Amino acid sequence: MCEYRCSFYATSLCDIVFHMKSSDIRQRFFSFFKKRNHAIIPSASLVPKNDPSVLFTTAGMQPLVPYLLGQPHPAGTRIASVQKCVRTQDIDEIGDNTHDTFFEMLGNWSLGDYFKEEAIRWSLEFLTSKEEGLGLDSTRLYITVFAGDENAPRDDESARIWQSLGIPENRIYYLGAQNNWWSPGDNGPCGPDSEMFYDVTKEGLGDLTPQEFAAADEAQQVVEIWNDVFMEFEKKDGVVVGKLSQKNVDTGAGLERMAMVLQGKNNIFETDLLSPIMETITGNDLRSRRIVADHIRTAVCMIADGVLPSNTDRGYILRRLLRRAVRFADILGVEGSLSAVAEPVFGIYADVYPIEEARDHIKGVIEQEEIKFRQTLQKGLRVFEKLDGVSGKDAFMLFSTYGFPLEMTVELAQEKGIIVDEEEFKKEFEEHQKTSRAGVGQKFKGGLAGHGEETVRLHTAHHLLLSALQKVLGSRVHQRGSNITSERLRIDFSFGRKMTDDEKKQVEDLVNMWIDEKLVVARRDMSKQEAEQMGAEMEFGATYGERVSVYFVERLDGTRISAEFCGGPHVSNTGELGRFIIKKEEAVAAGIRRIKAVLE
Ligand code: ATP
Ligand code: MG
Repeated sequence: MCEYRCSFYATSLCDIVFHMKSSDIRQRFFSFFKKRNHAIIPSASLVPKNDPSVLFTTAGMQPLVPYLLGQPHPAGTRIASVQKCVRTQDIDEIGDNTHDTFFEMLGNWSLGDYFKEEAIRWSLEFLTSKEEGLGLDSTRLYITVFAGDENAPRDDESARIWQSLGIPENRIYYLGAQNNWWSPGDNGPCGPDSEMFYDVTKEGLGDLTPQEFAAADEAQQVVEIWNDVFMEFEKKDGVVVGKLSQKNVDTGAGLERMAMVLQGKNNIFETDLLSPIMETITGNDLRSRRIVADHIRTAVCMIADGVLPSNTDRGYILRRLLRRAVRFADILGVEGSLSAVAEPVFGIYADVYPIEEARDHIKGVIEQEEIKFRQTLQKGLRVFEKLDGVSGKDAFMLFSTYGFPLEMTVELAQEKGIIVDEEEFKKEFEEHQKTSRAGVGQKFKGGLAGHGEETVRLHTAHHLLLSALQKVLGSRVHQRGSNITSERLRIDFSFGRKMTDDEKKQVEDLVNMWIDEKLVVARRDMSKQEAEQMGAEMEFGATYGERVSVYFVERLDGTRISAEFCGGPHVSNTGELGRFIIKKEEAVAAGIRRIKAVLE
């Protein structure tokens, strides 16, 4: 009894005896797979070396793509690593219990070597073996496998292997392609995957029906800790055409989540990888503290890998993370520079990554960016101080010109004993949106926060999305309907099946890349014939006169990202859009899918 339960969750002596540090997890992982003839390779940089399709390394498999496609790896056919990853697409999740923008991924790979049998057995052994692995409680494990669809059959083989190793049948759940199918795009290797979830509740949930399991996942009572992908099939133009000559295994387990379950926590922020950072951040709002801790840790690791704040690409993402951290730190009332929050990061990774050498540089970059950002805020503050009372109109001016979030203005006014008319602010805001939408008002400068003109921004994002869908899913994809509100955009498009998680991610990454590139959005009027010849995208069901206007998004060198028949209005530069996030992908009719997406 005591062996399992209290070693993780009770406050007994066992807690002190059994508290596996994150550095022990890395070491145990390496030893375990070394013993099973894997070559240990070092983490690649967060900045991908030969892959222009992504801004950051987002998984352990990324640096291994050429080898998964058949090129021989110099270290052999069995590889293991702990890879640094950045997933900015998870930024909305930060503050929950299990996501961060930077994390480390433990992974083992078979390049045409072993397959499901060994991969699953070793995953389970590593998780549960007290001698060689992590000694986790197998009665807290839940497993998902692929349910099967038109592309491939149900993965009964994996389910059988799990059962043969002692996982009860009722702890194995069959899920569709959205959850348990891995595919990097339209062409190339793909296959089912099997995921391991761990129960992090105090009492333990016991047996769960599929519905209960889904609810527990939603409530973060069970947490995905490891994913085994079995690359077995080959896809052409989005359809599985056969089996690969080389079957691969690609696994990924989050170190933060492993540490979380091993250290008896229900969230990653209380592990030894993040708690020293959290401790430097005062204030009551837990989510804000987590955001600051996460963003600063990610910033440190990005800067260590050579990224600097800028207005394009990686630099822009770093800038946004740092500025977001400043805003949340201000909300919390954190005093002093955020480089103090960065301080513990050097200690946490002292024995893992050589970031200590760059300490002064990294802290300097953070401090400078903070100063720059605060200067704009300062200008706004001077204007604020001169105000005689703070009307809703004033609040709007501070917002649109100096990037003051409304909450901040309200707080500042409160200190002076002034109440801001928030209704008037809202009216002003909506009024402005209306004139902008009508195309009469000049461009709305959202300042730092970049709010406002949501609909117009979403409209431009809509064009980028359609183009990204065609790039990722094939040129046969066309728009079949659309709807834009001030909160979100919706696009219906022709495509025959559910998109995989990876396809969605690729689409998101493409749109965000174009946003980061700050491309010019320009309108040109021309004859309908000319527009058609250029291949401009027409709206479904629309009829056009002889003269039409076409909106173009192009690079300076003339490369065309998007061309659509459209009356506008649009933003003038994609850099105004912020972060693009797909919220939902679903079927609406036979052969037609729907995506709902937002801009952060
Ligand atoms: P989730 O659905 O929880 O976002 P995922 O399906 O995106 O996870 P994978 O892409 O399968 O995760 O990545 C493999 C492993 O990496 C996961 O099992 C998890 O342990 C870890 N992981 C993924 N995203 C994050 C993140 N943002 N922060 C920390 N760990 C993560
Ligand atoms: Mg995810």
